Amino acid sequence: MVRAIDCADAVARLQDYFKRELTPELAQEVERHLQHCGGCFAHARFEENFLLMLETRARRDSCPSALRMRIVHTLRLDPERD
Ligand SMILES: [Zn+2]
Repeated sequence: MVRAIDCADAVARLQDYFKRELTPELAQEVERHLQHCGGCFAHARFEENFLLMLETRARRDSCPSALRMRIVHTLRLDPERD
């Protein structure tokens, strides 16, 4: 079982998440949190855009990795809201 993480854990891991430095298990925890937490989801989007900009500047010709594709996919999903 993957244990749930709270907002502080999710935000603390976002940088590593986008740098792809988390283990698959930790990345999955972050993704699960983002899918259910609108606040962290918005924060993640902001971070993602910022890092994407830096990344695009740094290396324009690199292909998106599988994890990158997954992150983009995750951020396109709407978090569940009431
Ligand atoms: Zn949260």
